[in-house]
Amino acid sequence: MIPAIELNDGYTIPQLGFGVFQIPAPETSRAVLRALEVGYRHFDTAEMYGNEREVGEAIRASDVSRDDVYVTSKLNNGFHRPDDARRAFEKTLTDLGFDYVDLFLIHWPLPGLYGGDFVSTWRTLEEFKRDGRARSIGVSNFQVAHLDRLAADAETVPSVNQIEAHPYFVNDEVRAYGRAHGIVTEAWSPIAQGGVLGDATVRAVADRMGRTPAQVVLRWHIQRGDVVFPKTVSPSRMHENFELFDFELDGESMDALSGLDRGEPGRTGPHPDDFNYVPD
Ligand code: NDP
Repeated sequence: MIPAIELNDGYTIPQLGFGVFQIPAPETSRAVLRALEVGYRHFDTAEMYGNEREVGEAIRASDVSRDDVYVTSKLNNGFHRPDDARRAFEKTLTDLGFDYVDLFLIHWPLPGLYGGDFVSTWRTLEEFKRDGRARSIGVSNFQVAHLDRLAADAETVPSVNQIEAHPYFVNDEVRAYGRAHGIVTEAWSPIAQGGVLGDATVRAVADRMGRTPAQVVLRWHIQRGDVVFPKTVSPSRMHENFELFDFELDGESMDALSGLDRGEPGRTGPHPDDFNYVPD
């Protein structure tokens, strides 16, 4: 049974899901259908992943009801201006083939674009929440300064902030801000795209627990209270990554994994303060 976390707007989100970043569109439907068979009921996609259509197709083709699946998508970086964001959100719903998403996020703050204005973009997401087409709204890759700016200038507190986090980059300052302000943290690249799995400490914890490296790292996230959605195209890894709820890490193992933090050098993705990428 996957635990559900309550968001600040009263909706709940399954703590474990399935990410589809870098799954090529032609493979996505098959991967999502397999994940549904394994038991995943939460899918994380984005307009920029180019596979929203296939995520929607798989869910609609499955025998699982839409209402039993939690679906997140994210705004394309090129569409932050309010009218563009409205058009992009309609396209997301059309491509998914749904009349609502459970969660819609600003994918990146892009502080060097749009005159640094992500607040008007956020107000546009508030419209989607008001009209019910996005049950919850949130942000991704927001640093503390970006969250402070929203707190000063907007009405709604984001329900989630989806940020890079794993044992080599624990990202605790942003997580602590979220905890203090009722924003749930979602950890992207939770196993650092596989980069932490060969670590001697991770392997020692895994050996001690009789689990795999991926399982102990994902369990560490779960016990920290974050939402995770590891990506895999391998059916056996889908099962492996799903089996996290019949064991518990003790304090010593939790501390050992947290102690792997390398700070900023542990970050694998772009720094949100400097990232101003718009797809062609
Ligand atoms: P993950 O940390 O989930 O790692 C995925 C990689 O690890 C793949 O190469 C996969 O290979 C491999 N893998 C998965 N499970 C195992 C396992 N049990 N043992 C060994 N290797 C494994 O990386 P992602 O970057 O995909 O992050 C997860 C999700 O987070 C994304 O899919 C996306 O939804 C979201 N995300 C959001 C971002 C944002 O800016 N908001 C940025 C990046 C990600 P294989 O498929 O071959 O099994």
